[in-house]
Amino acid sequence: MACGMLPRMIDAALSPPRPMNEPVLGYAPGSEERATLKAELARRASEVVDVPMIIGGREVRTGDTLAARCPHEHARTLARAHQGGPEEALAAVRAARAAAPEWARMPQHARNAVFLRAAELAATRRRARLNAATMLFASQIAGEQPISAPGTWNVMEPRPLEGFVAAITPFNFTAIAGNLPSAPAIMGNVVVWKPSPLAIPSAHEVMSLLTEAGLPDGVINMVFGPAEPIVHTLLDHEDLAGVHFTGSTRVFRHLVRRVGEGIDRYKTFPRLVGETGGKDFVFAHASADVDALAVALVRGAFEFQGQKCSAASRAYVPRSLWPQLERRILALLEEVTVGDVADFRTFMGAVIDPGAFARHAAAQAEAKADPSCRIVAGGTADDSVGWFVQPTVIEVKDPGHRLMHEELFGPILAVWVYPDEEEAAALAHVDASTYALTGAVFGRDRAFVVRATQALRAAAGNFYVNDKPTGAVVGQQPFGGARLSGTNDKAGSILNLWRWTAPRAIKETFSPPLAIGYPSMREA
Ligand code: NAD
Repeated sequence: MACGMLPRMIDAALSPPRPMNEPVLGYAPGSEERATLKAELARRASEVVDVPMIIGGREVRTGDTLAARCPHEHARTLARAHQGGPEEALAAVRAARAAAPEWARMPQHARNAVFLRAAELAATRRRARLNAATMLFASQIAGEQPISAPGTWNVMEPRPLEGFVAAITPFNFTAIAGNLPSAPAIMGNVVVWKPSPLAIPSAHEVMSLLTEAGLPDGVINMVFGPAEPIVHTLLDHEDLAGVHFTGSTRVFRHLVRRVGEGIDRYKTFPRLVGETGGKDFVFAHASADVDALAVALVRGAFEFQGQKCSAASRAYVPRSLWPQLERRILALLEEVTVGDVADFRTFMGAVIDPGAFARHAAAQAEAKADPSCRIVAGGTADDSVGWFVQPTVIEVKDPGHRLMHEELFGPILAVWVYPDEEEAAALAHVDASTYALTGAVFGRDRAFVVRATQALRAAAGNFYVNDKPTGAVVGQQPFGGARLSGTNDKAGSILNLWRWTAPRAIKETFSPPLAIGYPSMREA
């Protein structure tokens, strides 16, 4: 038994190099990273990438392809992905199950090495920096051991789940797309990954990085195709052990419902981890630094076209501050350029697809027709070349307005101006949201910061003081929110990795008792 425990203990001892966040590159004129990125963009301009599915390490092409179009120039095709359906989804499950025994047996430090190498490759290509940070936690889990009473030895073995994990990823974040299949795999699980059809080139890049890093065939299988037939095939499979999802609240609800309805068919209770939508707030106090607040709002709401789950989309501003803040925001928006992202002077590109464009154009039109709304900035959209939505600020008269509560996932910021003396009621409006992902408070008055931090305790899983509510960094601000923003398992942190283990507690007794009697049973 003691010998059997040995590999685990060695595992715990072999900690990987301490992960560091990749430095944030400036891409300033003359810099090496700028030149490299420009060259890569130029190379890709003339290329249409052919993207196969990867099942059991094999490239699978069906000939039925889906085009990935360039949002800022929708006539241009970036890639074509070969689509599968239930048949390919089942083949991926079989490949995963076949790879499972050897992958599960592989020591943690060896699994870590694959992802460390992938992280190194990713870093040198200026890409996601997620995996290296996750490595440390995996070894930490192996090192978490129970106490042992005299004469016994207790060991906790973090086994993978039995079955496979379905990883279903959103379009808007390459690092999340890489992390969702990787985190369960690091813990020894096998995975079927269905990426977003709107993120085909980056999914392809992540998968080929993992392959190049030495990930064994079948451990992560990537399947493209229509979402429901593929995802339902995975969710309805008796070997489903977990769902690792990031995306909208609506879709996660659908997945949870499906798993609930199918509960009698599974061999285990599938783990459900989902990070979902947000309606992220910025709450200002009269003591806030107006310049810093305006920058946080413009960056927080409009960077990446507001297509971040953490993007600021509702602001609460005291009446005494609003005229000054409005002027400052308008001045900053003069500097915001909207256009081709390959032109480095561009601040904002286009939204991701025609559906997102239509949603935002409709919200703008509704606000223009609504007497309780005032368009402060923007309010226009144009899809003749790309799906462009101008950065839009709308003042609403009612804090219960739909623009203050529904996630639009794009460059529209709603502002409610509250009477300075009604701060407590205004904070209660913030807290009334069904979402609780990110939020920020701005103020130099420390008593206000304390009041707001307490009043908004449940309103955000990632809470910022005098900073924008976006830009969480792995290892620094573990990310995730509760309520309808998800299961708050903090992607990229040790809490998330624990979800992908089924620990086994092993007790060895060195000198087992040889009689059934206890001391209490003896005559005095
Ligand atoms: P989405 O929910 O539309 O899609 C996510 C994934 O689910 C995709 O792979 C998609 O193909 C799949 N899918 C879509 N419909 C499905 C269905 N009926 N059945 C099964 N699968 C289905 O989300 P999106 O538009 O890609 O991403 C934007 C959303 O993700 C926003 O709501 C955003 O807030 C959220 N998000 C959250 C976080 C977070 O950490 N909380 C991070 C990024 C994005």
